[in-house]
Amino acid sequence: MTTWHDYLKKTGQPPSWPYPIRFEQEQEIDADVLVIGGGIAGCWAAISAARTGVKVVLLEKGDTVRSGAGGPGCDHWCNAPANPHSRVNPDEWAEHMADVPWSCGIGLQIQCREDWDTLLEMEQMGGKIRDTNDEYVGADGRYDDTKLMFSPRYGVKHNLWPEPGAGEPGFNPPEKRSNVVIRIWGSTFKPALKRECKRLGVKVMDRVAGTSLLTENGVQGARVIGATGLNSRTGEFVIVKAKSTIITTGGSGDLWLMNSELCGMSSMHPRTWTGEGLVMAYRAGAEIANLEVSMPIGIATGLKHKWYTGAGDASYENVPLVDANGKRVPLPIQGWEDAGAMIPFPDVQAKVLEEVKKGNFALPFYGDWPSMSDVERRATWDLMLGEESTTKIIIDTFNKAGFDGSRDLQQSYRFIEGAGMPQWRNGGGNFMMDWNLKTNLDGLYVAGTQLLGGQDHSYCAATGRYAGRKAANYAKEIAQGKISRDQIQKEKDRIYAPARRDNGIEWKEFHAGMARINQYYNSEFKTENLFKIGLYALERMEKEFAPQLYACDPHKLLRTIEDLTMLEHSKMIMQASMARKASRMGFQRIDYPEMDPPEWNKFLVARLVNDKFTTRLQEQRFWGNMKKEYEAHNRDYKGVYEK
Ligand SMILES: Cc1cc2nc3c(=O)[nH]c(=O)nc-3n(C[C@H](O)[C@H](O)[C@H](O)COP(=O)(O)OP(=O)(O)OC[C@H]3O[C@@H](n4cnc5c(N)ncnc54)[C@H](O)[C@@H]3O)c2cc1C
Repeated sequence: MTTWHDYLKKTGQPPSWPYPIRFEQEQEIDADVLVIGGGIAGCWAAISAARTGVKVVLLEKGDTVRSGAGGPGCDHWCNAPANPHSRVNPDEWAEHMADVPWSCGIGLQIQCREDWDTLLEMEQMGGKIRDTNDEYVGADGRYDDTKLMFSPRYGVKHNLWPEPGAGEPGFNPPEKRSNVVIRIWGSTFKPALKRECKRLGVKVMDRVAGTSLLTENGVQGARVIGATGLNSRTGEFVIVKAKSTIITTGGSGDLWLMNSELCGMSSMHPRTWTGEGLVMAYRAGAEIANLEVSMPIGIATGLKHKWYTGAGDASYENVPLVDANGKRVPLPIQGWEDAGAMIPFPDVQAKVLEEVKKGNFALPFYGDWPSMSDVERRATWDLMLGEESTTKIIIDTFNKAGFDGSRDLQQSYRFIEGAGMPQWRNGGGNFMMDWNLKTNLDGLYVAGTQLLGGQDHSYCAATGRYAGRKAANYAKEIAQGKISRDQIQKEKDRIYAPARRDNGIEWKEFHAGMARINQYYNSEFKTENLFKIGLYALERMEKEFAPQLYACDPHKLLRTIEDLTMLEHSKMIMQASMARKASRMGFQRIDYPEMDPPEWNKFLVARLVNDKFTTRLQEQRFWGNMKKEYEAHNRDYKGVYEK
């Protein structure tokens, strides 16, 4: 019997494969600025770099038009305190936001200063940010002069529950609101970003995944001078020489769980998030923090009905909850502090659950749509849920089934759906960066989710836009670096090894093994011994099973390369876990239970030096005075906000 793979070997073309196969062939391109990852941060980075007149190349693993976590849409522009209706001062708000442990003031200050400018620029590109068709006149938070719509539930203080009246309509009156969270038509954004990239002459290379960074003379820790990529349609090898490079590949991949047939992935984010940006930068010598931190996650594991619990969460803006007897449930649907607090705080949920157990609230809960006014209902159902992304599927399905919010309650799944297991986790690390969003490596910039303290869509947009102009400025002052042919050949050998084999292990089996190791040895129970066994097991996979991986088409080859990246990522996490001899938020060790003892109340920063894993500790709040530093680094920037 001829297998699919035999067929490929014989004919040089897989059956029904619509693209020419070009394994091992090279395509070489020159750029001033290279952006790896065409999501929210990446598109913004490419656009702002291209606006300065430099030549920009953008590599995107999927199709830029809808790729990434923000591709399908977005309903909250979360943090734009420089807008004309804001009730908070951007610099003070940035300080306030950064005033929590393990955050990072650099990205927050950039966001607070430039988020509104970014949104206005989005509007110029064709993104819809106002109620221009007057569909929601009279909605709470809508301003008739600007037609901007603010989310009415965000206040100027931390968690307001259980203040009397929390959850009641009108609890968060206008004077208590921050007016920093803007309701937007985010499904229009990604196509507008791609269009603008094209209009500005950015060379957008869809279906090309970045696989490694090139460094000057091939030396680890030296200036970054470009990258390599793999085309997942043709299998072609792409070499981009660049004066500066920006990594915007989003977050980490499914390190603890991956089973697309059964219960999904260990991340609610796109399947294209596989941590390559972080791992390729680490291999090149970049500093990565927070590797040891991970949290259990239920979303996207298949155990949750959908990725929000329903009414009362995130995009289900202001939908009041009632219990099974029609009694009002005081979950804080109004009066939250910022959009990071999209779901009720754990302590709030714990209190409501206590009342459920006492029999004071009857399950299930329901979203009480009929109690809302027509315009509020439409603003939540059509605008927020319609634009957010995955929720669009939910409302389309409900609409088709005849749901009518003026009449029908909608079941909430809070408390009645299964949570994830403690062994199903998310985590993976963040880039260290300076006030230019530059890493410790010359020529290498970063933006978006994976920054230290990375936040929401608008944060990714604002930091991408910022990194683009910084990387372009650097590129204008420096010549191309000297590429090492040896470095390229080594990468080609790594990439094509699975395609050169005829049989062995396929990526899914390999991935399952790796995820199991992370589940067993770096999960709820954390001890030195478990980490040691985990590292040993991962290294065995590297030595014994990685050399057996095979892939017979470009798609499978990419999946295989992603898994090799994730194996390396898992090792980084295991090593960092061993290195932190104390507990911290997101990292509870049984053998070192003390939380944040002074000598460990710092970021653990990992870095490869001569291919050896090294760490250092970095004080929190290392970024200095946020306002002063921002202004010192951006004297040439002309934004809306008065300095
Ligand atoms: C369902 C959902 C709803 C959300 N709703 C909101 C909301 O309403 N408001 C809000 O503020 N935030 C929201 N978010 C979060 C927001 O979408 C993300 O914060 C934001 O998109 C992250 O931007 P990013 O640029 O870091 O990553 P992304 O936008 O995900 O971009 C990363 C890109 O890198 C690409 N990539 C990955 N690896 C490689 C590689 N090796 N080579 C080349 N390309 C690569 C990916 O394909 C992707 O396109 C939501 C997220 C999800 C998943």
